[in-house]
Amino acid sequence: MKQRRNIITMIVAAVFSFGLMSGLSPVQNADAKQSVKVVRVKKVASKPYRATKGYMYNSPKLTKKIHNLKNYKHTTFYSKKRVTIKTAKNKTAYYTYVTTKNGKIKGYVYSKYLELYQPTKITITGMPSTPSDSTTPVKTTPSVISKSSLESMIAAAPDLDPAGSLLNLTSADYSTYRSIFDHNFNVGDYADDGVFNKDQASIYVASSELVPYVQKAIDKWNAALGTTVFTLGTRGNHSLLLKFGNGQSEGWDGVFDGDSVQVDYLDFHDSTYPYGSMPLSSSQTVSIKLSTDDSSADDSATGMASSRVQTKSGSHRDASAHYLTTTVTGTPSQLLENYWVGVITHELGHALGLDHTPYFQDIMAAPASTEDGSSQENAKYNWTDYKDSDGVQGGALTATLSQRDIDRAKLTKLLGYW
Ligand SMILES: [Zn+2]
Repeated sequence: MKQRRNIITMIVAAVFSFGLMSGLSPVQNADAKQSVKVVRVKKVASKPYRATKGYMYNSPKLTKKIHNLKNYKHTTFYSKKRVTIKTAKNKTAYYTYVTTKNGKIKGYVYSKYLELYQPTKITITGMPSTPSDSTTPVKTTPSVISKSSLESMIAAAPDLDPAGSLLNLTSADYSTYRSIFDHNFNVGDYADDGVFNKDQASIYVASSELVPYVQKAIDKWNAALGTTVFTLGTRGNHSLLLKFGNGQSEGWDGVFDGDSVQVDYLDFHDSTYPYGSMPLSSSQTVSIKLSTDDSSADDSATGMASSRVQTKSGSHRDASAHYLTTTVTGTPSQLLENYWVGVITHELGHALGLDHTPYFQDIMAAPASTEDGSSQENAKYNWTDYKDSDGVQGGALTATLSQRDIDRAKLTKLLGYW
């Protein structure tokens, strides 16, 4: 697929400021040498937290790491302030200033890496329920599935598909084994803070031309997940921006960069892309046979865009780097619509926390795990070829979510990524 996730390269493309969205009034720090700017500092109620990962910094400008939080997994911190910063790449991020109870360890921690800590209180049955100061609640840690049990459940499930009982564990299980889930299902917390509010993201589509495509992509995710996860927002009230961009030089059709999705303007407006010339006014069904092939030297484009596209007469195959052969069927306008709805549905999948899979029938498919020399953040394994056999329907080409796509998105909700 030509569309890319670009969780790594996207940072380059981030030009949109979310200061507007979060209703902040940016106050730029006077020190021009500092690349991190403190935008806002807000006092917060003191609440107990545990840190899940990351570092503690000495200042909100992140000048120095003072503690590796993996060494403080069982330390309870108390929140004091919340700081909004702009990173060197002009990304908004939230840090919380925390201290231990005795004040000895204190500093700034990425807010997403803090989890409210509430020791479980157990009421012992059989005890008289008279209000008494002498019966203090017994504190225990929440019961959690053993690592080996979780690993056997994962081994028994389909590859990269958290099917069945893996979606029915406790919240303590998900928070305890977050990195195991991330790694085994290629998921992660990819959306910026504030994109999802109460499990929903509201999308402002900056070009009206894209609205019907985005609406279809929204409907697909909402129907599959059985909940309204995406809504259409407005210019003045949204948490995720969707607009045209220029992916020609980087070779993408769609890109997600943490708080926005872009669709390549030129390819979107090129009716010969990606299937070649089609009689667009015709209501006749056509079948187009595609073979994804990476080695076509006569074609400067990459990935699926370089497919040898031929109608019914049969496929042209450059076998040296053959991935997969498939056929798409529909009227010309349906095929193009499905393609772009598929691109947008795929990018919204990234917002939900899904990275790529090697399965062509998934909306999140990618022919290789490495893009621009960058591996996936949480890859279970690397791949250089689709794992499906020839003849399967491409999820992104047909804008169809697979069971694996849906299960993974349910998992990322349980992990708290949306
Ligand atoms: Zn992608």
